[in-house]
Amino acid sequence: MASEIHPPSGRAFTKIVATVGPACSDQPTLEEMIRAGADVFRINTAHGSTADHTKVLETIRAASAALDTPVGVLVDLAGPKIRLTELPAPIQCNVGARFAFVRGESRGPDELGCTYETLVDELDVGDPVLLADGAVVMRVIEKQADRAVCEVTSAGIIKSKQGINLPGVKLKTPALTDVDRHFLTWAIEHDVDFVSLSFVRSPDDMVTLRGLLREGGSNAMTIAKIEKREALERIEEVVAASDAVMVARGDLGVEIEVAETPAAQKRIVRVCEELKKPVIVATQMLDSMQHSRRPTRAEATDVANAVLDGADACMLSGETAVGLYPVETVAMMNEIQRTSERLLIELRPPGNGPTDESVHPVTSAVIRGASLIARQISATLMVIVTRSGATARVRAKQRDMVPTLGVSLSHQTLRQMCLCWGIIPVSVTETEGPKLRAEVEQWALRDGLAKPGDQMVFITGSNLVKRAHNTIAVHSVQTED
Ligand code: PEP
Repeated sequence: MASEIHPPSGRAFTKIVATVGPACSDQPTLEEMIRAGADVFRINTAHGSTADHTKVLETIRAASAALDTPVGVLVDLAGPKIRLTELPAPIQCNVGARFAFVRGESRGPDELGCTYETLVDELDVGDPVLLADGAVVMRVIEKQADRAVCEVTSAGIIKSKQGINLPGVKLKTPALTDVDRHFLTWAIEHDVDFVSLSFVRSPDDMVTLRGLLREGGSNAMTIAKIEKREALERIEEVVAASDAVMVARGDLGVEIEVAETPAAQKRIVRVCEELKKPVIVATQMLDSMQHSRRPTRAEATDVANAVLDGADACMLSGETAVGLYPVETVAMMNEIQRTSERLLIELRPPGNGPTDESVHPVTSAVIRGASLIARQISATLMVIVTRSGATARVRAKQRDMVPTLGVSLSHQTLRQMCLCWGIIPVSVTETEGPKLRAEVEQWALRDGLAKPGDQMVFITGSNLVKRAHNTIAVHSVQTED
């Protein structure tokens, strides 16, 4: 459906994170995905080696360069995810059947090994053990020196390397495993834009991640994946300790009751809105498109609801990594987002949100004022000059539908703004004066974002006050104003 509120590029304001996998790791497919609306590519370190990831990263960067479009790269660390070791064959687990978790490898049809060495020691009688995405439920009924015996309470089939969830069990594992540290070193060396951590339990986990990144000289933004009840219980602190957040509904929906997941999603998104942090809603959004060219009505509604909740980005996982239609899925998500965004104006009038404390108070006030001005004079474009992207992130939460260019000299800031709702990252060679105006004007005219006589509202710094955006300037395109 054509939509007058969107820029002519046809891209939604809400961003798309697409997971890279065998179905889309060649340059032509990645380029098509970028054209269809992908803004950030996720490299999932749960699969593959650093050599594999280096190849993927180089291909993403080549695709981005070929299209002259900034694209963010997110490296996803698996965190303390526990998996079954290899099984000789899938096992049917019937209610009442007994299995023992043992140290090391799985040893037979009823002796299961896992990737967490000390699981046997840390489980207690009564603890739940969930497998197969929560379909199979066991409970520990007996502890022996080298075994934890469990009884099945919900039946199903388990397979090699499946994830194991232990809701409510307090494990001693550190937030970042040795494997995570290995991939983190790689991410730092390769100057990626975002690093997400799975199974975050406390704000300290995010402080540790940020510390390691900064020690290594990386400015990558940290993303907390919310998929444990512990993180939900301290959500304000976890969000405050992170640069961005992911509602990782796959594991979250196993770690808490699946019926609680929608409310948890809304709460996480609301906290991110209050603290002005970008939030990604992830997992199974268009799941059926792994095998079908069209999503189900329920999936389309799920994407729409995420947009209306206030998500900055929606994520595709298996749909793009291993699905049959990676490009079509991105295009479909973009279309649903675009269509849903028209409702946002009715449902969430812009500009009345809380003031923001993450930026200089002058900056916060100026952004609000500029937004008001832009709407009052029907400006076609807002332009934010930003060094770190912080101003763009505050601006993104206003949701006022005036397309906004986030202009910067920093290529990483441009790539990080790929996660900011409604912000179009644009590279410039000058951040003030007539040269900036000319560059932006040329870009906007070329991309059909403005025509002669249209008004543009600039938010920039000035030499009067250091480290604050304190200037709002209005310019009529192709005039001397
Ligand atoms: C999730 O669990 O929803 C998620 C995004 O994480 P992963 O893809 O690593 O399972």
